Order: sequence, then structure tokens, then C-alpha cells
Amino acid sequence: ADIADGVLRGVERVGSGVSGALLEPVIRIGVTGLSRAGKTVFITSLVANLLDRGRMPGLKAAADGAIRAAWLQPQPDDTVPRFDYESHLAALTGTAPHWPEGTRAISELRLSLKVQPSGMLGALRGARTLHLDIVDYPGEWLLDLALMDKSYADWSEAVLTRIADRPLGAAFLDQAISANPAARLEESRAQALAAAFTAHLHAARAAGWSDCTPGRFLLPGELAGSPALTFAPLPRPTAVPPRGSLWREMERRYDAYKSQVVRPFFLEHFARIDRQVVLVDVLGAIHAGPQAVEDMRRSMAAILTAFRPGRLNWLTSLIGMRRVERILFAATKADHLHHSQHARLTAITEALLREARDRADFAGAKTAAMSIAALRATVEEEILHNGVALDAVRGTLLDGRRAAFYPGDLPSDPAQLLTPAREGAERWLDADYAIMSFAPAPVTLRPGEGPPHIRLDRAAEFLLGDRL
Ligand code: GDP
Repeated sequence: ADIADGVLRGVERVGSGVSGALLEPVIRIGVTGLSRAGKTVFITSLVANLLDRGRMPGLKAAADGAIRAAWLQPQPDDTVPRFDYESHLAALTGTAPHWPEGTRAISELRLSLKVQPSGMLGALRGARTLHLDIVDYPGEWLLDLALMDKSYADWSEAVLTRIADRPLGAAFLDQAISANPAARLEESRAQALAAAFTAHLHAARAAGWSDCTPGRFLLPGELAGSPALTFAPLPRPTAVPPRGSLWREMERRYDAYKSQVVRPFFLEHFARIDRQVVLVDVLGAIHAGPQAVEDMRRSMAAILTAFRPGRLNWLTSLIGMRRVERILFAATKADHLHHSQHARLTAITEALLREARDRADFAGAKTAAMSIAALRATVEEEILHNGVALDAVRGTLLDGRRAAFYPGDLPSDPAQLLTPAREGAERWLDADYAIMSFAPAPVTLRPGEGPPHIRLDRAAEFLLGDRL
């Protein structure tokens, strides 16, 4: 009965997957978010806290002892890099704790749990094993979904129009406009254009813009230098360019990027995810200013359209109506704020999710928004500023200085942030936030200082609590 039960649980949905000959259920958890959103730290801390339980009161099965054991084992996909858990943990917990290198490409880690619910039912059923396959991948890759319905000509036009509004795009724009699309392809010319375009995307990203496609131009992995990544948008030529021209070759490479890079990722990896965490550096965008917030919310909506089932797009036609069951939208690095400001951060994150959800109906997928810190680098403290008490946080900066900081205010009403940016819009988090680059705190905070994370346990409960 136990095995049958496991089989049923495992195959009740296409792709939910059963593990090998043992027919043990598997949950595939996708972790994504734009670069520096906090994916690497999130996964490392989640796994560490599941392996070494006792700091996750909000995860019911951990708190009541239903999780009897947890261990890492070889992942099922032999050709996907393994998430380098051990090195990342060593970076965070060594004698001189430092932040690990962030996500550059897809990776995977299998954590297995032995679970026996307490009480009569648990005793009757006996212990069972559940595998969590955690898949880490850049959110930039999800933005590429928008390319799939676009021809090279349409994509070029959209990108060039967008860049024209941004002063930092001038250098690339000059090159693109002066290129003759009908001229014979010269490889060095194609490379120069692609390099200028890539440099532009990096600059745009650094300036706080989120909408930087193609995603692999920023995070190329092993594709760096390949023809599929050596193209750039060009102004549409007036006449049909001849064979062998710069335009025709750029168009061919763009199509190759879609069919050989984007499409396989969605089919082989994205389509198999059961539950998804989307991490967002909401605080960073708020601090960067209204334009960055505006851009972040557009990108979030774009990312979340990838999870919209049932729309007649190429993805649905390939993978059918299969969909993720749960999507968690988490604002990271909440330890930059005193907890008295967390409700505001969560309200903003919820408003962002609601907006994206209104545009992309997730038809049945359960969604939630939270403010979290996978690794708490601060403790709370009240400081006096001009005679006024401020709710601050104390931590050690990357340069070793230890002090208490007040990041600045968040709006009490998310609408103050999320209505489209106006001239002279109010700025938020404009006090100490800019200098609050904390080093990771040694993992054991002193008694009374709370758990070494913020709501990581709640996040885990939402993602897998129902299956434990
Ligand atoms: P990724 O690019 O999405 O993998 O992002 P990382 O996990 O590498 O995180 C990027 C940076 O954000 C880290 O180097 C830290 O500086 C910061 N960070 C991530 N998580 C936390 C957190 O929980 N608290 C604090 N204070 N900083 C964090």
C-alpha cells in the first residue's frame, strides 16, 4: 500500500516525477531571479537549514520532528552542473565569512528527506522518502521567452526604440545605425556589433535596468563566443537584403539563438518544474529610484508570463497545460530593514505580484509574496538621530566596520511606488541604504538575536509543507 501510495503521489501529475526504480516522489523546485537577487545564498541557506534542522520553527514538519533525516545525493540529471553547495557553504561559514559567487548558469542539487508524520497516521504509514530537486537558473533566461514570438526584424525595432530613450545606449546606437545591413557579412563587423551590444546590456543592467535580453548575452555560460551569441539588433533595411549580407546572417543567428538555446532550456528544464521561487531585490530597485522600480515591475510581469498556462503560445503547444503548482515571490535581503518595516516591504512585494498576476492569470497555481533574508547579516537596534528614535539594524560592512544603520523610509502605501514614475517622484531608502553592504554574519547569532534567517522557514513551508 505504501508503494502504491507513493506511486500515486508521484505520478498524479505529469512530470511530477518518480525517482528511479524505488518509485519515490520527487518535487522539482525552481529557484530564479535576476542576477544578484540572492539565489545562491537562498539555496545554500535552505539546504543547510534542512540538513541541520532546529532553526526552522515556521516549517511545520521540521518543528514537529516529522522530517527524520535529510541528506544530499547525486542528482538525476547527469549533464546539468551540480549546485556547488559545499563551496558556497564554506564561503559563508568559514573563519572569514564572505558571500559566495552568484549564479551564472543552471545548476541542480538533490536533497532527500525521510519523513514520518507524527501521530497515528504517521505511525501506520511508516517513513517515506521525498526527493527535492532544486534547480537554480538565471531569471534573465526567462525574459527570453518574449523573444520566441518575435522575428528578428520586430525584435531589432523594439530594442532600438527602447535604447534610443536611454542616454547610456548612445555608443551602441551609433554603431548600429552606421552599419549597412545590406553589406556582405564580415565576421569582425558582426563581432564588433555584438560586443558593443553586450557592453550596452551590461551597462544597462548596472544602471538598474532589468529588461536586458537576450539573457545569455549577460550570462553566456559555455556559449560565450559562439555564433548564436554573436548578433545584435540592426535598423530595418528598406529593401530585402541579399543573401550573405550582414542582416541575413544576424537574422539567422537570432533564429538559432531561439531554436537552439532558448527553446531547449524551456523544454528540458523549465517545463519540468513543480514549484517555483522568484527572488527579487525589491530593496535594491527602490533604492535605485523610480525608473528602476518601473523597470523591475515590467520585468516581473514578463518573467511571470512564463508561468501562465493555457495561453496559445508556442510553449503551451509544446508542453501542454502542465504548470507549476506554487509560485513564491520573495523580496530578499530583508535584514537591511528593522522588522517594523517588513510589513511595508511585503505589501510592496504583494502589490508587485498582484499586478503581474492580473496580467498573467496563473489559473490555479497558488501564489504568495514574502519578505525574507536567507542569511541574516544584522541585528536590530534603536538609534537616536537628532533626538528622534529610529529603528535601525547593526551589522559588519564588507570593509570590516561595524555600526548601526538606518536605511531610510519605505512608503506606507505601495501605490506611492508603483504608479508609473513621474518627474520628481519621491525617493525612498535614501538614508544609509547606499552604504549598507554587509558581510555575512557568522551563522550562530547570540541567544536572543533570533534565527540566522528571516522567514526562510515560512518560504519552505509554502513551497513544500503540504508534501511533508
Ligand atoms: P544570485 O546572483 O541571484 O545568485 O545572488 P547571490 O545569492 O549571489 O546574492 C547576491 C548578493 O546579495 C550577495 O553577494 C550578498 O551581498 C547579497 N545577499 C544575498 N542574500 C542576502 C541576505 O539574506 N542578506 C544580506 N544582507 N545580503 C544578501
